[in-house]
Amino acid sequence: MSGGTAIRIDAPRRDFLAYKVACPACGTLVGPRFVTREHLDVPPDPPYAASVKCPKCAALFEVVFSG
Ligand SMILES: [Zn+2]
Repeated sequence: MSGGTAIRIDAPRRDFLAYKVACPACGTLVGPRFVTREHLDVPPDPPYAASVKCPKCAALFEVVFSG
């Protein structure tokens, strides 16, 4: 699968919605406000992930929702 973002992290969707997920580059807590794209084509079940841009260091990464 081709894609623009290289970094991918797993997190419970609940934690993401509550801004408890840290940017893998700088540790800034991120949440739905910083989503640039949501997509449905990523496993596991239910397939759901979001592309996020860190508001502090501008790192791009994907949060793959687990649980
Ligand atoms: Zn960051």
